[in-house]
Amino acid sequence: MKISELLKTKEVTISCELFPPKKGSELKKAHELVHEMAKLGPAFISVTYGASGGISEHTVDMANEVQNVNGVPVLAHLTCASSGREKIHQVLGELKERKIENILALRGDIPEDLEFPLPNQYHHANELMEEIKAFGDFCIGGACYPEGHPEAESIEADIDNLKRKVEAGCEFLTTQMFFDNNILYNFLYRALKKNIEVPVIAGIMPVTNAKQIKRITSLSGSILPQRFRAIVERFAENPAALKQAGIAYATDQIIDLIANGVNHVHIYTMNKPDVAGAILKNLSEIC
Ligand code: FAD
Repeated sequence: MKISELLKTKEVTISCELFPPKKGSELKKAHELVHEMAKLGPAFISVTYGASGGISEHTVDMANEVQNVNGVPVLAHLTCASSGREKIHQVLGELKERKIENILALRGDIPEDLEFPLPNQYHHANELMEEIKAFGDFCIGGACYPEGHPEAESIEADIDNLKRKVEAGCEFLTTQMFFDNNILYNFLYRALKKNIEVPVIAGIMPVTNAKQIKRITSLSGSILPQRFRAIVERFAENPAALKQAGIAYATDQIIDLIANGVNHVHIYTMNKPDVAGAILKNLSEIC
């Protein structure tokens, strides 16, 4: 099912995320994880592609497992910072063969050891989106950044660039994580002012361990509100308490979003079906 169709519903949709294993020998375990996540009944499951701009050998396999084995709509991520057109065409061919029709098209982070862009390569996600559109009948999503992308000259320039993605055929957007919902509400207002009218899926990261926090601030530059910092400071040395508090914080954010009319939420579940399950249980009467 195309995610653009799924997002037309007035119902709340909650989706989850998995990342593929690095080694083929870990695929069996990863397939069990897909099954665990699928049992929770998410609207769709996304499967990331590589990390830090690298390529991924197992995203297509995992996406196949989600959709064609477990019967849950899938969103396969695809980045282009490390890939020329040939590699991209290869992956698109593999997705098409497996009837996987939803792609989150991303540039990816620029790998430090790479000359960027290589000749005959993509500079930005909008170019990848144009290529995907020309290749076949895919439903294309893209990333957006309520606090601005770290490389952007300004928040305004970032929104102008976002508009290019929509013009290139991007049918929905998933946000970078944010920990203060007002940041999202401001972003939605700015996007609408630029006539960006495609559905926006709010990305929520349940922070359940202290290691994650350092990574989040260094990678995404997200602002951490005082209420969030207090939780981390109080429970950093007590993993079980931090996990419980992180699940409660994410639940609280999602309830506020839904109450304010944001109907589509993506949980960055980071291969943790127990965390996804706990949040969904907290929302059982809400969606
Ligand atoms: P772009 O849209 O190309 O934007 C990158 C920068 O360039 C921005 O500053 C933007 O303002 C600017 N820009 C965009 N278009 C133009 C243009 N035409 N001309 C000039 N400037 C422009 N990374 C992975 O490696 N694997 C994943 O699976 C993955 N999944 C993600 C999912 C989500 C929901 C999000 C939010 C991020 C994800 N990332 C992933 C990280 C992402 O790859 C990085 O944030 C990357 O730095 C930017 O990718 P992008 O597609 O947003 O790039």
